[in-house]
Amino acid sequence: MKNAKAHIQVLPDNVINKIAAGEVVERPAAVVKELMENALDAGATDLKIEIVAGGRTLIAVADNGGGMGRNDALLSIERHATSKISDVNDIERVSTLGFRGEALAAIASVSRFTLRTRPPAELAGTELILAGGRMQEVRDVGCAPGTLVEVRHLFFNVPARRKFLRSDQTELAHIRLAFMMYALAYPSVGMQLKADGRELYNLPAQASLPDRLGDLFASIPNQELRRVAYAAGPLKISGYIALPSLTRADRSEQHLFINQRPTAAALLSGAIREGYKMLIPKDRYPVVFLFLDLDPGQIDVNVHPAKKEVRFRNPAEVRQAVAEAIRQTLARRPGQSNPAYIAGSAAVKAPAPDQPATGPIWSYPARRPSTAPLPQPTDKTPAAPAAGMENKPWAWRRIVGQIGSLYVVMETEDGLVLMDPHAAHERVLFEKFMAEISGGRVKSQALLMAETVVLPPVAAVALQPIMAELKQTGFNIAEFGQDTFLIDAVPACFGNVAASGLIKEIAAALNESAERNKGGRWLEELIAQAACRAAVKAHTRLAAAELEELVAQLEKAEMPYTCPHGRPIIIHFSFQELAKKFGRNAPRD
Ligand code: ADP
Ligand code: MG
Repeated sequence: MKNAKAHIQVLPDNVINKIAAGEVVERPAAVVKELMENALDAGATDLKIEIVAGGRTLIAVADNGGGMGRNDALLSIERHATSKISDVNDIERVSTLGFRGEALAAIASVSRFTLRTRPPAELAGTELILAGGRMQEVRDVGCAPGTLVEVRHLFFNVPARRKFLRSDQTELAHIRLAFMMYALAYPSVGMQLKADGRELYNLPAQASLPDRLGDLFASIPNQELRRVAYAAGPLKISGYIALPSLTRADRSEQHLFINQRPTAAALLSGAIREGYKMLIPKDRYPVVFLFLDLDPGQIDVNVHPAKKEVRFRNPAEVRQAVAEAIRQTLARRPGQSNPAYIAGSAAVKAPAPDQPATGPIWSYPARRPSTAPLPQPTDKTPAAPAAGMENKPWAWRRIVGQIGSLYVVMETEDGLVLMDPHAAHERVLFEKFMAEISGGRVKSQALLMAETVVLPPVAAVALQPIMAELKQTGFNIAEFGQDTFLIDAVPACFGNVAASGLIKEIAAALNESAERNKGGRWLEELIAQAACRAAVKAHTRLAAAELEELVAQLEKAEMPYTCPHGRPIIIHFSFQELAKKFGRNAPRD
């Protein structure tokens, strides 16, 4: 090895601290995260955070938690000093956010650091001032109960670290994200964030998760979120997930929490994908805010220096539960009454979550109580008896017509809906077929004229092994020489779809599908999707009666919002949005 030192030496503590600091404190946002965790662990109900110059000049976090007496304050800035665990076994069931006792020591060693703290029962507080980890001053101060940590000139003594900091704006963006995550995880705690004198957030205490979502993610349309409440034994899954119509190109809007700790567990990303299977394209990521609560003994948080990752003791169970929670949530109709928790494999009574007992934040499309200017129905007959109303994306609708030989325009109780009839047709076909399959009652329909189809060699080879299964799903198909197949019956629900086109689509999909050994309904789903592709293509003008029929069928669908390939079926504009666009402040005048 070149440049190797001639002898081994034990590093002085201040050097060790700097190395550790590199892991825990890689950038200002990490300081904010650690200080927020400490404040929350201390039982604070109010946090005030101040940032100057992206955290390079100042990071200050003030809380109204339990504070520390003089001795504890002095200990808190020592390495491996923690009040949260006392032996190894505690690590296995730690329920606080912190436990390593490293953060304050690490932060203090790479900054000019002030700690001011006072337990509520004591009259005076303690102030510690450190520079680069060296104590400069210890004294009594008058201060409010709780703790204030000020971190100035981060990395002033570690130029290598300082060089890696990005622009103030970028560092602030990371800080905001950290702030938002803890604000979501602890809606009952009031939190304020100021940057360069400007107030970015001022979130009230005693808030609910939907309140916080509204305050922090105003750009995400509430009506496209569904509330999750699911329990599988002691594992609880809650939060909000997007309808398949609300996706992103990456995972940046998949917010995951385990025991109120923001986390990035690869396992959960996979489970989410599975839950949305068949509903969204492969390269899209649904927006989710998912909270897992489980026994601390079921996870190991001691695998990452900044505790960003966790390891599960029973990963398969967690994965399965998350996917199932998503599936059940998406299958639930908007407005359908939400049990406090949907019971999973092992039903249990779960404590009420942090959210109100309503379904989505509001139902889709929103039935807003008073703010939405409702058109007054006069000659309008309800589309269905009241009992069936909550089974649809709307309670009332009127078909206005079709535009561009394609889109269907509808008025609903709270806005305007555009519907893609082709996507709607796909959805209806798909669900019909899947329902018949699950009911074991697929009707087969003989073709007036048998059709032959010639497949490319690879597709033909792919089709052969599933001929028997195809027969069970209502097809009658026989091999007819080199790469040629003869079809003389198809599932009745695909009645007007060309049989040869259908088989071509199925064979092509078989070729691409890597899932054939996964069991379950993969073949049926594949057939249904193929049928959709083969179905009558768009740009067909529909007669009024046909439109009526299609909309009526869509209203009965399990998932009336997206086609089986994940494209939206309906796009909704609320009266509120329209009023905004027209510069009218509701209510209508
Ligand atoms: P950890 O959080 O892993 O225990 P830290 O270095 O972050 O380690 O904090 C060390 C200790 O200092 C904590 O265990 C806690 O007892 C105390 N402490 C830190 N911040 C606060 C705070 N804001 N309020 C009260 N006590 C605190
Ligand atoms: Mg800590």
